[in-house]
Amino acid sequence: MSAIFTFDNSYARDLEGLYLPWSGAKAPAPQVLRLNAALAAELGVDPEALESPEGAAFLAGSAAPEGAAPLAMAYAGHQFGGFSPQLGDGRALLLGEVIDQNGKRRDIHLKGSGRTPFSRGGDGKAVLGPVLREYLIGEAMHALGVPTTRALAASLTGETVWREGGKPGAVLARVASSHLRVGTFQFFAARGETDRLRQLADYAIARHFPDLAGAPDKYLLLLSRVSDGQARLIAQWVNLGFVHGVMNTDNVAISGETIDYGPCAFIDAYDPKAVFSSIDHNGRYAYGNQPNIAQWNLARFAESLLDLIDPEDSDAAIARSTETLGAFPHHYQAAWLAGVRAKMGLMKELPADLDLANDLLALMAESHADFTQTFRALSGVVRAAADGFRGRFLDLAAADRWLGRYVGRLAEEDIAPEARAAAMDRVNPIYIPRNHKVEAALEAAEAGNMAPFDALLGAISAPFAPQAGLEAYAEPAPDDFGPYTTYCGT
Ligand code: AMP
Ligand code: MG
Repeated sequence: MSAIFTFDNSYARDLEGLYLPWSGAKAPAPQVLRLNAALAAELGVDPEALESPEGAAFLAGSAAPEGAAPLAMAYAGHQFGGFSPQLGDGRALLLGEVIDQNGKRRDIHLKGSGRTPFSRGGDGKAVLGPVLREYLIGEAMHALGVPTTRALAASLTGETVWREGGKPGAVLARVASSHLRVGTFQFFAARGETDRLRQLADYAIARHFPDLAGAPDKYLLLLSRVSDGQARLIAQWVNLGFVHGVMNTDNVAISGETIDYGPCAFIDAYDPKAVFSSIDHNGRYAYGNQPNIAQWNLARFAESLLDLIDPEDSDAAIARSTETLGAFPHHYQAAWLAGVRAKMGLMKELPADLDLANDLLALMAESHADFTQTFRALSGVVRAAADGFRGRFLDLAAADRWLGRYVGRLAEEDIAPEARAAAMDRVNPIYIPRNHKVEAALEAAEAGNMAPFDALLGAISAPFAPQAGLEAYAEPAPDDFGPYTTYCGT
């Protein structure tokens, strides 16, 4: 039988000393609970082979597939502003890399595969709820067009894991364009291991920004590219109402993908101060603070690169990286505004668009309008059916004043209403993973019933087109759901 994966493990091969070779813990009864067959196909992997007992053992971390070079990556990170010099894969393994059907290198990674030398006090395990949560939210982000790591499989280990009660042990098999984090760079910078740092930076450039390889100031350009990727990514989050919840520097991927779905959530009512995570007491990672935090994280990335940017003159390195990062707010703002224009169906760029967008958001905040539904209803206005939109505002007179400006703005462009409305419906989703639906799906899954998970996954996998029978998935949480709190899910 041919091997399930065709690995090509560049990280293990090129970056010796930046990781520890390691193996997963034996699982008593590996079982693939859900497999992402579409992603498996994209990877050129036979889904049936993955669901075989052999495949299940691989996906649960219990055995390493042929050609794998499992390893735990070293990384550091600023967590809630405080620096931890040694985090690393405490419950995860990079199994290896495959080249997918599009020629793209992808990491196959396991989360919950047992203790590693980086586990500190942790048990190295994961439990079913958070594993399925990461599966769901990652798939939603992918379907919404946001760069993201994706779940290949959620597997049960057959073990009970202790978390405020016994929970089913599980492993997430995750696919990413890499697991290089800002914290990976911080680890070697903090130890003054400049040679390893340079090796890492060269690897990151070769893997993600190969056109920079020959540039004389390639490390400064690396900072600039990563910064641009973050600007685009966070703008997408904000334009979809997504709150990551734990934007520590170890959870910032150099690739520009969203990574490490823990206490994340989508907002219902528009509220820039929205926070869901139980441990984010000061709102550091609040919905509206995400661009600021991204810039703060990039400054930590810049610090870790200083020795490479100018090995001779640290003042010059600081000046150059500060200038590079100074572009972040402009790039963020431009990406955000382009996104909001698309949400509003505006094709041209006119100076008054910024106020038009901000005034709408202010009205939404005042009325606690549902973010997703309100933007989706805006295409109704274009189709000359404004009631669905107007009905979301407490101050109807103010909403009508805004609508007057909006309709005037639409008239500045000669576009057929249906074409415009259809374009809006391709960027304003109907279905997002609503918090109450996610909770219900995870609770049922823990009790052995996967039907709610599958229904929710179906809804969020095609978020822009109405699906018959799934109307309830488009609705915000009922009042009795109360304020929503999320947990890191370790
Ligand atoms: P996270 O908050 O999931 O991004 O994890 C932050 C750090 O804690 C990483 O180094 C993880 O590997 C580690 N970690 C989280 N949960 C566990 C666990 N149950 N056992 C060991 N390490 C863990
Ligand atoms: Mg993490």
